Amino acid sequence: MSYEVLARKYRPSNFEEVVGQSHIIQAITNSIASNKIHQAYIFSGTRGVGKTTLARILSKCLNCLSSDKPVTKPCDSCTVCDEIKTGRHLDFLEIDAASKTGVDDMRELLDTVQYKPSSGRYKIYLIDEVHMLSTSSFNALLKTLEEPPAHVIFIFATTDPEKIPKTVQSRCLQLNLKTINRDNLETHLQNVVNSEKIQHDKNSLALISDSAQGSVRDALTLLDQSIAHGNGALNEADVKALLGTIDDSLVYELIDAVVGGEAEKAFNIFYKIEELTPEYENVLKHIISFIHKVSLEQALKNSNKEPVRSIAQSVDKEFIQLIYEIAVNSYSKFSIHPNPKEALEICILRMLAFNPLASIHDKTKSSNETVSEKKNLIQPVSSSKETVSVEIKNNIAEPVLKKSPAQIQPLKILSNHDWIAFFRELEMSVFVKNYYGNFTFLKMEGSEIYLGGDLKRNDIPLNVKKEFEDICTEAFKTKIIIKLEQSITTDGPLQQEEKENKVKQENAEDNIKNNESIKNFMTKFDATIKEKSIKPIN
Ligand SMILES: [Zn+2]
Repeated sequence: MSYEVLARKYRPSNFEEVVGQSHIIQAITNSIASNKIHQAYIFSGTRGVGKTTLARILSKCLNCLSSDKPVTKPCDSCTVCDEIKTGRHLDFLEIDAASKTGVDDMRELLDTVQYKPSSGRYKIYLIDEVHMLSTSSFNALLKTLEEPPAHVIFIFATTDPEKIPKTVQSRCLQLNLKTINRDNLETHLQNVVNSEKIQHDKNSLALISDSAQGSVRDALTLLDQSIAHGNGALNEADVKALLGTIDDSLVYELIDAVVGGEAEKAFNIFYKIEELTPEYENVLKHIISFIHKVSLEQALKNSNKEPVRSIAQSVDKEFIQLIYEIAVNSYSKFSIHPNPKEALEICILRMLAFNPLASIHDKTKSSNETVSEKKNLIQPVSSSKETVSVEIKNNIAEPVLKKSPAQIQPLKILSNHDWIAFFRELEMSVFVKNYYGNFTFLKMEGSEIYLGGDLKRNDIPLNVKKEFEDICTEAFKTKIIIKLEQSITTDGPLQQEEKENKVKQENAEDNIKNNESIKNFMTKFDATIKEKSIKPIN
C-alpha cells in the first residue's frame, strides 16, 4: 500500500473536521441552512490555516447531490463531492491569481461566467492569492461582482486582504481565518498520532506545534518528516535535530550571559550551540521569543518559568527592549547575510556592545591590571629580544554609548568629545569613515546633527550620505539628518585618531629610549636604535 502523506490524509472533508475555525464555520453553515447564500466570499488568513480547504468544503456543500438543495455537511461520496475533492469538477474552477494576474486572463475567465453550470447548482470560482491581481483585473472582476449571474459563486482566498480594493471587499462576505492556537494544534497532532498508532513522546508533539506557528498543514508536514526521521516513531531528540532547534536551557544561559555583560561566557555558550549544527535562524527566533517572554513577565508577571522570571527581575526593562530591538533587527536582515552563523554572532556582539554592564566589566578589568591588554600596551618592534611593556596615559574619549540603561535612550551628543566616542562605536564602511571622520561636531538640534568641515575637500556622494544617516538613525532609534557646514579647521574622529597615534608613537619612542635595560644593552653592544622600527601596539 502506498503511503499517503498526513497533510492530505487528514485534510478535513467537512466543516466538523476543521480545526479551530468555529466562528467562520458557524457563519457559513447558518447562511446555508437559512438559504441565504452569499455570492462572493473572501477567506483571509496566514498561509496553511486552511483557506482553500474551507473553500472546497463550501463548494461541496453547495453542489452535493445528496440533497436537492445545498447542505451543511457534504456526503463526500457522490460524484460531485468526489470530483471537487480531486479537482476535476467542471463547475468548480480553481485559479491561482499569482500566475494569472493580467487583465486578459481575467477577461477570459469572466467570459465563462454567463454559462450555466454543467451539472451542479452553482458555478464556483475559487481565486487563490487574489491580492496578486492587477488593478485592471480587479476592475474587470468588479463589473461581474456588481451583478453576478445567480448561479455564480466567487471565493477569494488571500493572505493579504488589505491589498484587495475596497470596492471589491465591500461586495464580499469577508471571513478571517484565525491562526490555530498552539494547544489546539497539539491536540490535533495527538489525535493524528493516536489514530495512526505512532509511538511518540509528549515533548516531540509540543515542539512540532511550536514550530508550525498556527498552520495545521505545516504541523502535519513536520509530523510526517519527523516520523520518517525517527523510523516510524516520534522522539524528542530526532524532532529537535530535524527542526534545528536547540535546548531552551542554552538560550536561557546565552541571554543570561548577555544581560550580565559576560562576553566570554556568552561566546562559550555560542560555541556549544555551534556544535549542535543548528539552523541559526531558528536559534535567533528562539532568542527573540525568549526575550519577548522576559519582557511580558516584566510588565505582567505572567510567566511560570523560572529562567524567564529570574532574568526579568535582574535586568532593566529598557535594556530588555533594546536587545529585543537588536535581535528583531538582525532577524529582519538575516536572509541578506552571506553567513548565518556570523549573522547570529554579530547579533550577540551588538547586544553585548550596548550592555552597560559589559563596559563595567571591561573597566574593572583594566583598572585591576597594571598593563591593560587593549590600547595602552607598547612594545618595541626591534631586534632586541627583550620586550618592554609600558603603560601610557592618553586621553582617549570614553564611548558615550556605554552608560547606564537609563542613559542609553535617548542618546544625547553634547560635545565633539561625545561625538568622537559615538562615531567610533558605529559600524560603517571605510568610505563613510573617511568622509565623515573629517568633520567636527558643532551641535545637535532635535534630530539634526550639525558637523563642520572643509566642504570643498569632502564632496560627499549621496549613497555615502544615506549610509551614514541610516547608521545614525539606527543608533539613535529616530530619524537623523546630518547637516554639514563649512569650516577650515577640523577636529573630527580621524584627526583625533591621528593625534592619539602620534602621542602613542612619541610615548613608545620615549619609553624605549629611556628604558634602563635597553640603555644597558646599547652600551654593552654599542648598539643604536632604528627609530622607525618603534611602533606602539594597538
Ligand atoms: Zn456529495
